[in-house]
Amino acid sequence: MNSKTQYTERIKSEAKRLGFLSCGVSKAEFLEQEAPRLEKWLNQNMNGQMGYMENHFDKRLDPTKLVDDSKSVVSLLLNYFPSDAQKDPEAPKISKYAYGTDYHFVIKDKLKQLLQFIQEEIGEVQGRAFVDSAPVLDKAWAAKSGLGWIGKNSNLLTQKVGSFYFIAELIIDLELDYDTPVTDHCGTCTACIDACPTQAIVEPYVVDGSKCISYFTIELKEEIPNSYKDQFDNWMFGCDVCQDVCPWNRFSKPHREPLFNPKPELLEMSKKDWEEITQEVFSKVFQKSAVKRTKFSGLKRNIDFLFEK
Ligand code: SF4
Ligand code: SF4
Repeated sequence: MNSKTQYTERIKSEAKRLGFLSCGVSKAEFLEQEAPRLEKWLNQNMNGQMGYMENHFDKRLDPTKLVDDSKSVVSLLLNYFPSDAQKDPEAPKISKYAYGTDYHFVIKDKLKQLLQFIQEEIGEVQGRAFVDSAPVLDKAWAAKSGLGWIGKNSNLLTQKVGSFYFIAELIIDLELDYDTPVTDHCGTCTACIDACPTQAIVEPYVVDGSKCISYFTIELKEEIPNSYKDQFDNWMFGCDVCQDVCPWNRFSKPHREPLFNPKPELLEMSKKDWEEITQEVFSKVFQKSAVKRTKFSGLKRNIDFLFEK
């Protein structure tokens, strides 16, 4: 076994030990296939007000522009599928990924540990960690590294565990063995396209971000357009519909990361509790949560949009 292969195996087994679901590796190079796709998507304004997606176009497609002398993109998946759900079926819904502690903190910490392991066990390796950060096309890298395929709902899918996981990367200046993509198993299924409450999946594999409930409830700074009234299927932060209906998600298994467990109040709160939520309750329930991104005023706007006639 050559040293490249040994290093790759050691990194993958350390990633497993740190709790990642899986780890795959790609050569750090220009994402040729993604470039025209991203350009077309941006030209059609499918990013809505997410102006940051237009920034650093070159960097987003080329990791060597993000990390000097980079050789490999190490992609990692971390499961967040919860074992419990919100109790009141009429309560406004929160996307599962936002139940517990903000994933940025949890994953950054694990990535740091993995980079430290590489530096201590392998040698002088330089690199950077990325978690859902604008410049990196994480789904494209994970797919290139054989961790899954990008489905018609534009999520990364795996046959073993569906799609309820975070994707993160280490970009490092160490050459490793590279993985190959897996085949697409969406087949003739159109469940996600048919179920999307706002018809945001405008064609297979293309989600118009500017029509997606996640965009409206998290990214949009202004009022939600009234033309979408009664179309949100009771989602107040994010939306899981196109993942919930995906047949591959019947294989989702609950995560084992205590930090992703929600505060019990979050699951207990009734429709009425949400309607009457105060800044104080918001701060308590979402103390370290990604939901804080919308601030109290943003979440309140979303709740009012669902319930106000
Ligand atoms: S997250 Fe919801 S609104 Fe967005 S594409 Fe999926 S089903 Fe449609
Ligand atoms: S619901 Fe069907 S078409 Fe959509 S991503 Fe899942 S398998 Fe693919």
